[in-house]
Amino acid sequence: MTSLPLIPVDPDARGRRPAMPPRHLADLDLPGRRALVTELGEPGFRAKQVSNHYFGRLVRDPAQMTDLPAATRERLAGSLLPTLLTPVRELACDDGATRKALWRLHDGSLVESVLMGYPDRVTVCISSQAGCGMACPFCATGQAGLTRNLSTAEIVDQAVYLAGVAASGAVAGSPPRLSHVVFMGMGEPLANYSRVVAAIRRLVAPAPEGLGLSQRHITVSTVGLVPAIRRLASEDLSVTLALSLHAPDDELRDELVPVNQRWKVSEVLDAAWDYAATTGRRVSIEYAMIKDVNDQPWRADLLGRLLAGKLAHVNLIPLNPTPGSRWDASPKPVEREFVRRLRDAGVSTTVRDTRGREIDGACGQLAAAEDRDTEPRTATA
Ligand code: SF4
Repeated sequence: MTSLPLIPVDPDARGRRPAMPPRHLADLDLPGRRALVTELGEPGFRAKQVSNHYFGRLVRDPAQMTDLPAATRERLAGSLLPTLLTPVRELACDDGATRKALWRLHDGSLVESVLMGYPDRVTVCISSQAGCGMACPFCATGQAGLTRNLSTAEIVDQAVYLAGVAASGAVAGSPPRLSHVVFMGMGEPLANYSRVVAAIRRLVAPAPEGLGLSQRHITVSTVGLVPAIRRLASEDLSVTLALSLHAPDDELRDELVPVNQRWKVSEVLDAAWDYAATTGRRVSIEYAMIKDVNDQPWRADLLGRLLAGKLAHVNLIPLNPTPGSRWDASPKPVEREFVRRLRDAGVSTTVRDTRGREIDGACGQLAAAEDRDTEPRTATA
């Protein structure tokens, strides 16, 4: 039995303030940007012009903002669009359809994002925290602990940057426009609640206020922070909730997802069904298939009984083992039997594709690899 984990502590609330990045246009809504531009002694409408470059044209180079007076371009861009993400590595695999980016933040923290092209859509997977405090033992990010929450703009900028990559035609065989965003990179999104919700609002607001994505194309994952799930249901947003369940019974889930010691399977599922009822959105149940740990037939049957008749879909994830880990992926025949039992119980089930495997595609693996190759990360929270 593991001891109780540190639960969803917002590092900003601990007295020691983490080194947050400079303010950026994407931290603010349009009225906030107008107020900032006015403070800088410029007419308020310049906020809309710069926003249109950033969100509408995916341009951040002041030299390309030719509708702004040459004398103020640099100053405005410097104040509204400070550099938040410095690329450290960009790797491609799956014949260029998957591109993984590793960024260094202003304080040296590393985070990663993944761009995935499909014939009908382009998806980015973004990080919401540098590191993660949830301590799931099978996860590379969980091993390093939490460094700090990302700012709203640091979250949004990952999507905007990769939307620009997609627009350049770099993802062969896919549409050039970013359409989907999943909060499934590093971190527990609902532990950085207010910034994640603000980031969602930026992503779905039409340009020039935001990126203009459909709410239905945004997925927020969580390990099951029950009060935050309930709060999200009240936000008047209809984003998809992805619940990382990984075990249908408390005994195993207490170990695999330590936050389960605080909120049990039944409480988490109750919150998920209430979310589905409020938003009308089917909940995605994420289940990493771990050899001889959570892949037994009886656990498939138990999961089937818990989910039968609910507005839910199961996403089985073949585990991508972290280097030196004792956890391994379930063999394919075991995975197929798990799927069969869930479907027999009437539960819609798919196995997630394994995009990015050859480039350390599981959450946190690229950052962990970079840390192994270079100096350790600086913990600020
Ligand atoms: S699986 Fe997700 S919630 Fe758990 S430690 Fe990893 S990043 Fe955090």
